[in-house]
Amino acid sequence: MKTDSGIIFNIKHFAVHDGPGIRTTVFFKGCPLSCRWCHNPESINPNLEEIEVPYARVSVTAKKCGKDTVGKKVQVSEIMSEVLKDVIFYDESGGGITISGGEPLMQPDFLFSLLKECKIHNIHTCVDTSGYAPRKIIESIVDYVDLFLYDIKLLDNEEHVRYTGVKNDRIFQNLEYLCEKNKKVIIRTPIIPDITDTEENIAQLGEYISSLKCVVRVDILPYNQFGEDKYRRLEKPYQLNNTNPPSDERMLQLKEKLETFNLQVKIGG
Ligand code: SF4
Repeated sequence: MKTDSGIIFNIKHFAVHDGPGIRTTVFFKGCPLSCRWCHNPESINPNLEEIEVPYARVSVTAKKCGKDTVGKKVQVSEIMSEVLKDVIFYDESGGGITISGGEPLMQPDFLFSLLKECKIHNIHTCVDTSGYAPRKIIESIVDYVDLFLYDIKLLDNEEHVRYTGVKNDRIFQNLEYLCEKNKKVIIRTPIIPDITDTEENIAQLGEYISSLKCVVRVDILPYNQFGEDKYRRLEKPYQLNNTNPPSDERMLQLKEKLETFNLQVKIGG
């Protein structure tokens, strides 16, 4: 029996970097990976959790002692009432809903129910995923997804384990399955200096992605430090203190390098 409720940590209206057109992005809570660069560390724990409230907001929003709760249990119907507010914008811009996270595939029944409801309303659907999930979960939702935003980070398995906490073989197998199903896929690769941004990884990335027929574009996303303060407020260690964002010149070089593999490449989402 499918469940109509799950845990999310945000809904963003008028998103323009999470797929085509103007979109409403719903952020599911919980992720099986622990990428060192994750700028949404509050997305990783699948349960509700407490976070320190920034000083400026303490008097306005804090429930107790400068702490607030991240995450909210919601029904599909509550999400739909938010999503349906923006239908006119989806229609005019070619937009729709994007389900992101965290990892949406960690709440498969909730995800299925939400996608199905969107399709009843003829809303374009994107799922933004790490691809790290059992195949049967992907199979359960694949027919309800118009576009996948699919993260590929590191081609070397040992490096993948080192920096994300999980192996990458399942991620590649699931991506290849989506191609067999003729789904549209945009690959998203975070550019993290000296981690994903190495000559070897970029060359392997170009070679692998260019072998896949379903990839319509590759988005390269420059590392940012926006999440650093959230780690402190969640009392979690931040491991990339000494890493700076890549320069504009470096991003352009990487774009040009990947284009030599006959890929369409965009800087940013
Ligand atoms: S897959 Fe995304 S949400 Fe999950 S830990 Fe990595 S960056 Fe964060």
